[in-house]
Amino acid sequence: MKFVIIGGDAAGMSAASRARRNNPDLEVVVLEQTEDVSYSACGMPYNIADPFREIDDLVVRPAQVFREKQGIDLRTGHRVLSIDRSAKTIAGRKESGEEFQVDYDKLLIATGASPIMPDLPGFDLPGVLALKSLEHGRLIKAFISGGQVRVAVIIGMGYIALEMSEALRDLGIEVHMVKPRPDLLPWMHRDLAVMVQKELEENGVNLYLGHETKGVEQTARGLKADFEGVGFTCQMVLAAIGVTPNSKLAADAGLELGPGQSISINRTAQTSDTDIYAAGDCADAYHVVTEEKTWIPLALRANRSGYAAADNVTLIKTELPGVAGTAVFKLFDLQIARTGLTVKEAADFGFEPEEVCIEGRTRAFAHPGVSSMGVQIVGDKKSGRLLGMQIVARDGAAHRINAPAVALHNKMTVDEFSRTDMAYAPPFGPVWDPMLTAANQLLKKL
Ligand SMILES: Cc1cc2nc3c(=O)[nH]c(=O)nc-3n(C[C@H](O)[C@H](O)[C@H](O)COP(=O)(O)OP(=O)(O)OC[C@H]3O[C@@H](n4cnc5c(N)ncnc54)[C@H](O)[C@@H]3O)c2cc1C
Repeated sequence: MKFVIIGGDAAGMSAASRARRNNPDLEVVVLEQTEDVSYSACGMPYNIADPFREIDDLVVRPAQVFREKQGIDLRTGHRVLSIDRSAKTIAGRKESGEEFQVDYDKLLIATGASPIMPDLPGFDLPGVLALKSLEHGRLIKAFISGGQVRVAVIIGMGYIALEMSEALRDLGIEVHMVKPRPDLLPWMHRDLAVMVQKELEENGVNLYLGHETKGVEQTARGLKADFEGVGFTCQMVLAAIGVTPNSKLAADAGLELGPGQSISINRTAQTSDTDIYAAGDCADAYHVVTEEKTWIPLALRANRSGYAAADNVTLIKTELPGVAGTAVFKLFDLQIARTGLTVKEAADFGFEPEEVCIEGRTRAFAHPGVSSMGVQIVGDKKSGRLLGMQIVARDGAAHRINAPAVALHNKMTVDEFSRTDMAYAPPFGPVWDPMLTAANQLLKKL
């Protein structure tokens, strides 16, 4: 049997490796349009911040290891342009311009997502950049290393934009962040967003909320980035306004699409064609709280759905449990974490949400280094179920969030969560963990 995979990063290479491990006789072909495979995109902001690190440090496993040690027919510089489902072939073009065609028994689409670039003047100028692929990281690193970037403008305030604000400040670059909407992180409880805003301001990041982008132009003094009511002369503009799933191949082949135009898959990672699977950022997933389809492009899900596709192709029946939307990122000295639903999302899905947001402590009272920990918790008035949590703190937020994530997978109520046995020692938190305190307070409202 021949298993063909389009896309050679997290989902695609996880699937290729797993499939060969499950069945060493399986022919596995991977077609990747770039020369980069299997790298940590998540590490790019930290790598960019460090001028002494090579961007290629982020390559997890080089192409020749997949080819020579794992027997995977990995073809880089191969861009797939179409899928013919009735002939079970795919066609595309190599970097050299030569056309190619490959037949398949089972196909996996693992084409990921692309950064959204505003359809406005100047977004094709040198110095106007995005960060998604390793090549983008290479470009940004090379651009900055010339020393010509003194002022940078970041459009957008999502987690990649925020991580990059820290990276650029670490390099001594003046940073202005601009977005059209008035809220810094619209999904976040206001009290927690205030902590994040304070951290940005204390680290010299200038925030401009509520300014629509007008365009960028090249002037004699550098780039001129224009927004409604404000403008900047700078040397670099980073567009970080989100990503969109690379689902055109699937859509053109008549496969069903899901939320946000992602490729619709079932719990076995199969698309609406039983011989075609999809995994990673290009595909949708079930949300463990709502049981509805959602599109949350993150790394663990990409790797896991790649594994699931490979297992099912090699006849090891595997079902994807779904995602809870668990995410974490670092911003200067803050850890920012979330899992589950916000109040608005919960209400949109027909829950009757109640929330509390408390200020707890990262360590025991009076323990050296103690600081505040903001915890927001959401529960359902009708069923008592725990629906979501957000945590912002200088330490202890990142891994704490995994406790409510596990509770969401197990559909626990707030009451059950409030009675769980959590660890305590003074350097790590108070006796009553802030999550338990938040849950106890929420119980009074449910
Ligand atoms: C800066 C940054 C920081 C991040 N930080 C985190 C984090 O901290 N935590 C987290 O969970 N996630 C993070 N992510 C997200 C995470 O990197 C992605 O969820 C993950 O890489 C998705 O893997 P994927 O294989 O689905 O897609 P991708 O990594 O996008 O790979 C898709 C591959 O398919 C190839 N391809 C596309 N179309 C074609 C075609 N037609 N023919 C051939 N090849 C094609 C592409 O070239 C690409 O190599 C971050 C992402 C970025 C950019």
